[in-house]
Formats: sequence, structure tokens, C-alpha cells
Amino acid sequence: MLKICKKCGEELDKSMFNKKLTNKDNLRCECKNCQKKYRQENKERFAQYSKEYRETNREYIRGKDRDRIHILTDTEKEYQKEYQKEYRKEKEHKEIAKEYNKKWNEENREERTRYMKAYRIPYKVEHIIAMKKWKESKLNEK
Ligand SMILES: [Zn+2]
Repeated sequence: MLKICKKCGEELDKSMFNKKLTNKDNLRCECKNCQKKYRQENKERFAQYSKEYRETNREYIRGKDRDRIHILTDTEKEYQKEYQKEYRKEKEHKEIAKEYNKKWNEENREERTRYMKAYRIPYKVEHIIAMKKWKESKLNEK
């Protein structure tokens, strides 16, 4: 089964195309080679946008961090502090931190679930969406 890549114009096997379910044939218009090339060519640009995003939205991100700290319980705050303290140290301390993390998770299952729900997930999703929008708007500028 062959398909012509819209970018390089080559006729390639359909396995050379990534999936895109919104397209009629469920495949992307450009082949994997072209996608790879595009990613490589824009790697620096993307890195630059990520940096710009962080800089421009520093206050916003910091605000988010503050919000997060407010919703943490004392045990959670204590846990974060200890974990980060160990994690910042030398390499072997990362193992200690990991052990600590594991132990904490086991001993505080319920709190952990709440913590993940209240803290990590909404922040991550929100952050990723904002970052994507930012990158897209940057790409469209060119
Ligand atoms: Zn191609």
C-alpha cells in the first residue's frame, strides 16, 4: 500500500506515515522522514520558545507555584522539603530521595492520591496546554 508524501513528493509504503485520525485515510500527509527532518530543523526553535515561554510567563508560573503551596498539607510540605533537599544533593542522594519518595507513598497512600489530584495533574495539564498554545502562536507568526 503506497501513499505519496505531500512534502517530499515520494511514493512510500503506508507504514512510513504516522497516524492522524482526523485525516480521511487516518494517516498524516507527510512521511516519517519529513516529520523527523522538521523536528530536527526546529529543535532549537522549539527550545527557544520553551525558554521564552518560561521567561514571559514567569510570574504566572510562580503564581501557580504559590497556589500549589497553599493547598498542601503540613505533611506534604514536609515531604516536599525533605525530598527536594535530598534530590538536589550528589548522585547517590538521588537514590536516597527515591527511597524516601517510595516509602512516603506507601505510608501516605490516601494523602498521596489527594496530593496528585490537587497538585500535579491540573498544573501539568494547564501548563502543557498553555505551552502548546504559545508555541503554535509563535510558529504561525513566521
Ligand atoms: Zn516526505
